Amino acid sequence: MTVTRPTSVAEVTADLAREGVRARAGGTDLSACLETGVIAPGPLVDLLDVPGLDGVTWNADGSARVGAMTTVATVAADPRLATAYPALAATARALATPQVRGVATVGGNLLQRNRCAYLRNPAFDCFQTGGDTCPARTGDHLRGVVVDQGPCAAPHPSSLAMAFLVYEATAHLERASATALPVADLYDGTDPTRDHVLDARSLMTAVELPVPVAGERAAYRRATGRSRAEWPLVEAVVRVECADGGRGPVERAAVAVGGVARTPLRLEALAETLVGAEPGRDLPVRVTEALSDLADLCSPLPATGYKVPLLQGTVRDVVETVLGITGR
Ligand SMILES: Cc1cc2nc3c(=O)[nH]c(=O)nc-3n(C[C@H](O)[C@H](O)[C@H](O)COP(=O)(O)OP(=O)(O)OC[C@H]3O[C@@H](n4cnc5c(N)ncnc54)[C@H](O)[C@@H]3O)c2cc1C
Ligand code: SF4
Repeated sequence: MTVTRPTSVAEVTADLAREGVRARAGGTDLSACLETGVIAPGPLVDLLDVPGLDGVTWNADGSARVGAMTTVATVAADPRLATAYPALAATARALATPQVRGVATVGGNLLQRNRCAYLRNPAFDCFQTGGDTCPARTGDHLRGVVVDQGPCAAPHPSSLAMAFLVYEATAHLERASATALPVADLYDGTDPTRDHVLDARSLMTAVELPVPVAGERAAYRRATGRSRAEWPLVEAVVRVECADGGRGPVERAAVAVGGVARTPLRLEALAETLVGAEPGRDLPVRVTEALSDLADLCSPLPATGYKVPLLQGTVRDVVETVLGITGR
């Protein structure tokens, strides 16, 4: 397998324009995909030496642009990012392991393949490998979706995608020409053949965040089958903007969940009920009702019914945490 190490974005896009060529960032998922046949062997373009893809830059209006080659560890440890975008920092701190976070990149995280055991086993064919069936649906789908959007039943694996969703962040791409796409539009839950909409010719260069809000409160929670080195069964992130510099009632809120659907999901209806809620006080009845209504979103597979209460409980936990509600 040949590996090129271009030193400019133009060289990368020229390389990626050739058939079968793939970008390599940290390589943590790509290597596993190549080993298990999820991705066919072919020439690789290593992004490590390309200037301008790594690191966080701050715009004059206070907003940040996170380079696609910035590691998850850098996002997790950057104090200015933690103040400006606490939901993103909290999510980055919680995912994978220190070793993985040290090499895994923002772009690679958003564009990684799902963790379905059938996809990662070369003995099986499925929609994602050019077949016309989903063995997980009739086999082991314990970790599968509970919001069933289409033929593929594997939840989207990217925790950062969920966090970028609550900021309505934008992914910057280079192909023949530069373009930008809301992070939310990187994913199409009804397409069973792939985990994101980009083809291998597109290079993600950065993710752009909006102007930060002073005094934002945020929290992240995940429910996992084991405590370390594991993708979550369900994860949730909430950010709220409160009056009086963070101490007053909620003025705006955003909630997103992962591990439950083919795409990371924003929970708009629940977020609306949070407006007016007061930090440190009991949850308003309308919020409790909206948490209960999350069951209506769900269409569990035979073995994923357990994710309905897990989703409700995880989201309730993160909502209570963000509002500083204790003692339930
Ligand atoms: C034990 C363990 C636990 C984990 N837990 C979690 C978790 O809880 N949450 C979570 O989100 N992830 C988790 N992960 C996955 C990990 O975060 C990903 O493997 C990692 O983020 C991928 O990033 P990378 O830079 O290594 O990407 P690579 O493996 O290099 O690339 C992944 C894919 O993205 C493409 N790509 C990469 N960068 C670009 C770019 N700039 N432009 C275009 N295409 C690009 C590559 O071609 C490839 O197809 C876990 C991994 C392990 C091993
Ligand atoms: S859930 Fe998706 S990835 Fe897993 S076997 Fe079915 S189609 Fe393939």
